[in-house]
Amino acid sequence: MMAKSIKKPCFLLAVLFLLNPIWVFSQIKFDDYFENSTLRFDYSRAGDKNNEWILEEQLKKESAWAGSFNILIDSLLLGDYYFQVFDSASNKLIFSRGYSSLFREWLDIEESLKIKKSFYESVVMPFPKRTILLKLLNRNRNNEFLVVYERFINPKDYFIKKETILPFEVKTILDNGNPNQKLDITIIAEGYTADEMPKFEKDCERFMGYFFDVSPFKEFKKDINFHIIKSISQESGTDIPGAGEWKNTILNSSFYTFNSERYLTTLDIKSVRDVAACAPYDQIFILVNSAKYGGGGVFNYYNLCSSDHAQSKEVFTHEFGHGFGALADEYAYEDIPAETLYNLNFEPWQRNISSLADINAKWGKMIKNTPIPTPDIHQYYNNIGAFEGAGYVLKKMYRPMHDCKMRSNNTNEFCPVCQKALIEVLYLYIK
Ligand SMILES: [Zn+2]
Repeated sequence: MMAKSIKKPCFLLAVLFLLNPIWVFSQIKFDDYFENSTLRFDYSRAGDKNNEWILEEQLKKESAWAGSFNILIDSLLLGDYYFQVFDSASNKLIFSRGYSSLFREWLDIEESLKIKKSFYESVVMPFPKRTILLKLLNRNRNNEFLVVYERFINPKDYFIKKETILPFEVKTILDNGNPNQKLDITIIAEGYTADEMPKFEKDCERFMGYFFDVSPFKEFKKDINFHIIKSISQESGTDIPGAGEWKNTILNSSFYTFNSERYLTTLDIKSVRDVAACAPYDQIFILVNSAKYGGGGVFNYYNLCSSDHAQSKEVFTHEFGHGFGALADEYAYEDIPAETLYNLNFEPWQRNISSLADINAKWGKMIKNTPIPTPDIHQYYNNIGAFEGAGYVLKKMYRPMHDCKMRSNNTNEFCPVCQKALIEVLYLYIK
């Protein structure tokens, strides 16, 4: 979800280096380069529409690595951003992941033309045995990744923090085994007081049920673990600025993100990571104790939704489509021209929307006996095609089906294109 957008000028960055676009790498042997713990690099991404800076915050060593030991290079190339870890001595790429953040969404807001802001961000990787070179990359309008920041990290640096984790109780509510071979989804309590922890536990069981109602997750249940973290807030609920409601909560979540009432997020990534470190996690799901409609999901950043709205069930897996699967929203607003958000000479990077620049690189091969573009009429409602109106714009951007979880709450199913994309991401975690 996001708020309304405005015209976006070219991406100008403080530091740009063109990247050599060689993306096919042999996989790396984990033990040669890493030990079984986690390195976390925190930074602020600051700037405005035209300029951007990466500002270092801290390095931390955290508990065991929950990700795969086998899939260390992310060749899916999803997300607005990407980070790479090179072994410094051999200059060999040994780890990479795609991700996105709220800063990137903020750049589509008019405010980013007027003021500068700073957003806290964080990336995690297996803890290296020897010095590494970390590179952060941004995607530009032509779909190229450009290096915007790099630094060496020596694992023996005594400024890498090794703090005790926060004292919150963790419970594994679905245990299918070794976190290195499973997708570990960790639900964090937000806006639940100590007295409300029994409710949190019940809510988590309910949401896990919602999760496995939906394909492709139900077919992969044996490959997924669920952990919950009973992180206690001082007050119940969350901030609702438009209603003058402010609550002291552990993760500082809030409705009205970018002035969109239903857009429920937190900018407090430091607290999110500190709490998440209590449990193994591949994906963070923040459950906000509120009956108000809303949520948010940002790719490999976090997923979030409210607990008690009548449509929380549908929102939960929709947001997971964003946060885990890097899927685009398939709905549209009336007043945003496609050119303000997309370079229509290229395909957008999200798997479930197409500019028709090269639909065969997307889901073209799944389209059978259906015209492209596809008339949005009853005859084609159950066909895979290319339906105009997707990715927040009514014209010139296309979605795979008439309806899908990424378009509306009228269906509780992902379309086949979204399901295929989700399964491809799942294999990053379970091999
Ligand atoms: Zn879809």
